[in-house]
Amino acid sequence: MVEGDIEDFTGCTIGYVERTNLSFIDVPGQIATVVFVRGCSIRCPDCHNCELQSFDETKKTTVDKVVAQLNELELSQWICFQGGEPLDQADFVRAIIEKLRSSFKVCIYSGYNMELVKRKHKELLALPNVRMVKAGKFLLKKRIYDKFLATTNQRVILKHQIDATEGKVQWDELDWINNSKEFIEEQVNKACYEEKVN
Ligand code: SF4
Repeated sequence: MVEGDIEDFTGCTIGYVERTNLSFIDVPGQIATVVFVRGCSIRCPDCHNCELQSFDETKKTTVDKVVAQLNELELSQWICFQGGEPLDQADFVRAIIEKLRSSFKVCIYSGYNMELVKRKHKELLALPNVRMVKAGKFLLKKRIYDKFLATTNQRVILKHQIDATEGKVQWDELDWINNSKEFIEEQVNKACYEEKVN
């Protein structure tokens, strides 16, 4: 299946979610709840979540149901969308993010490459609480185990605040291959700033 073949989720309030899980590793140094969306059109040759590739009708749910569940969470500081492929249902994911408690920070894992994510999903990345994106296919031969689970072709960007007074932010690329766990956690922690409220 190619990108153009996927179901049209434009303006969608319905999407596919497999499950949610508490995680201490997917957002380094942070407590996150991972939302595993269901369905993926990318088909990485070494997919580690093959069971989540199909858009299973029994897993259809609504934005409001997902938001109600997430907004009840007490322990998690972050919500991390993975799959499956969150950006195959980008409008559904975006609608959820827009209704989340403002205290949540959001991370998105995508199998699409970072250039495509930045080009096609500008509005999603501009949402104030979207702070981290990891992008790129899962390739087993590039797998590394000693940092947070990923493959070396994947790229990570973090939103950092560069001017607290004016609320200016920028996306910084994180070199997570050549840096220590402590450095990575520090950079992620910097992405936890509170937004300027006018
Ligand atoms: S993006 Fe994720 S779910 Fe989709 S094929 Fe690749 S590893 Fe599997």
